[in-house]
Amino acid sequence: MVELKTEREIERMRAAGRVVARALAAVRAAARPGASLLELDAVAREVLREAGAESPFLGYRPEFAPVPFPGVICASVNDAIVHGVPDGRRLRDGDLLSVDCGAKLDGWVGDAAVSFAVGRARPADLRLIRTAEAALAAGIEQARPGKRIGDIAHAVARVCRGAGYGIPDGFGGHGVGRSMHEDPGVPNEGPAGRGMRLRAGMVLAIEPMVIGGGGDDYVTDGDGWTLRTVDGSRAAHAEHTVAITPAGPRVLTA
Ligand code: MG
Ligand code: MG
Repeated sequence: MVELKTEREIERMRAAGRVVARALAAVRAAARPGASLLELDAVAREVLREAGAESPFLGYRPEFAPVPFPGVICASVNDAIVHGVPDGRRLRDGDLLSVDCGAKLDGWVGDAAVSFAVGRARPADLRLIRTAEAALAAGIEQARPGKRIGDIAHAVARVCRGAGYGIPDGFGGHGVGRSMHEDPGVPNEGPAGRGMRLRAGMVLAIEPMVIGGGGDDYVTDGDGWTLRTVDGSRAAHAEHTVAITPAGPRVLTA
């Protein structure tokens, strides 16, 4: 069931979204060569704690997961696509890092992700990251009353496929509200003009993932969480929580 949010509720979700934006900015600033993923997780924890926010990631255990998620961020390095578990791994110059973070403030959730290069960037990584960001922007542009879920999916895939990248099958965005994952699902690929019609008051996480090698296949790590590319190529992820308003899309996690 899709729950429509009132203007006032969207304002409260914006407050949660601001906390997510601050946490991601703080993690990015701390993500230098030599920093460990656990240290980055601690940076995000501190931002959430200071804001009085809870983490919807910490302890999260969907059906597929063998253990509850141990961090407040997902930290996915290089060939990790999403759901990377923050551990003692230290970042190296030229790594491609994707960070996903959520915050729950006064009962409302924000969810967003960024990808960036650590230290000196490889040109191929910058292209991959820019494509994920462009796909996100294209998806957001479709988040308007009267459009359909398929319009978002089609816009996202068009950018990713147009750049020659793969899209991991079966993972995508979702409704956001009092919980992190609500209806409807927001696929990263599909036909335009199909699926649920978008209405003012819907709040969606739109989150393109791109695989540099061009294939769509992935494997799950032994940790039961981390999704990796099969071919070892690098991947990027970008996400915003977006409210659909009569005036158009409103990004809540900027
Ligand atoms: Mg997320
Ligand atoms: Mg999400």
